[in-house]
Amino acid sequence: MKITDIMKERMSLSFEVFPPKADKPLEPLLDVLDRLYTVEPDFVSCTYGAGGTNAGRHMEICKAILDSGKTIPISHFTTIGKTREDIRAQMDLCLSYGINHILALRGDIPEGWEGTRGDFRHASEMISFIRKYYGDKFVIAMAGAPEKHIEARTFAEDIAHLRMKQDSGADILMTQLCYDVEGFKRWLDTIRKTGVHIPVDVGIMPVLNKNSVIKMCLGTNGCSIPQPLAELISRYYNASEEDFRKAGIEYTVRMVYEYMALGIDGLHFYSLNKADAALEICEACGLSYRK
Ligand code: FAD
Repeated sequence: MKITDIMKERMSLSFEVFPPKADKPLEPLLDVLDRLYTVEPDFVSCTYGAGGTNAGRHMEICKAILDSGKTIPISHFTTIGKTREDIRAQMDLCLSYGINHILALRGDIPEGWEGTRGDFRHASEMISFIRKYYGDKFVIAMAGAPEKHIEARTFAEDIAHLRMKQDSGADILMTQLCYDVEGFKRWLDTIRKTGVHIPVDVGIMPVLNKNSVIKMCLGTNGCSIPQPLAELISRYYNASEEDFRKAGIEYTVRMVYEYMALGIDGLHFYSLNKADAALEICEACGLSYRK
């Protein structure tokens, strides 16, 4: 089954996990996955260290997801430091395991580097290479930033690149976190007018901790904190972690409903290798029993 076919039938539900460090056991993450499977996600994606760190672990997890027989794994890949041969070796490995869904990314350029130090400068070039070489063997997802990628000078420029990335052969657009649903709606309308027609899977970062929200939005991604979220942070600024988390989950549930009301094609929860919050939100949004 392909995720693109699932998205034609229903709004997909999925989670993202990341590989544990090389010296840590896999079992805690496998337990988390077992709990996430209880809501029958359509897929689970596993992140990839930009410089290839934890690369082995990343494939181990994708394979464990596949072997569970519970859902489809999506394997993230980046171009950082990769030659064409490296990418082919990775794609061949995926196919040998039976993994045929990938999220093709440029990756964040490591500090002090000039460019990717690989054969591909942009994700679109890697997507085009994989598509040409492997035909339809892979479902290829690409990334998109509803509030503009931090390096792009303008929205117009970034959206033009999204269109080029789709035209290189991407099947699904998976988004960066975005707490500004109104801004997301404007972006969605614009990309559709620009000819980006592939399904859009929205990245949902649950609001669980004030410092994490501030760091994720302002620390690296250049994402906004809309007024209602700013108000929540102020109101619970000195509250206990537990009280903040409770209010944050209520906020996330309202946001998820707003996204659903936009008719998006999928909800992708950044589970941060924990099951509790994601499952609580799914339960509160009626997503636990959608099939
Ligand atoms: P690109 O599409 O190459 O875009 C990067 C920048 O270049 C943008 O500003 C774009 O406008 C510009 N650009 C694109 N094409 C051109 C062109 N032809 N000419 C000029 N400029 C161009 N990172 C990881 O390291 N590991 C992960 O597992 C990971 N998972 C992610 C999952 C999701 C859902 C998302 C949204 C992001 C993820 N990232 C991950 C982060 C991602 O790698 C970064 O956002 C990275 O900085 C850009 O990757 P990209 O694939 O969007 O790059």
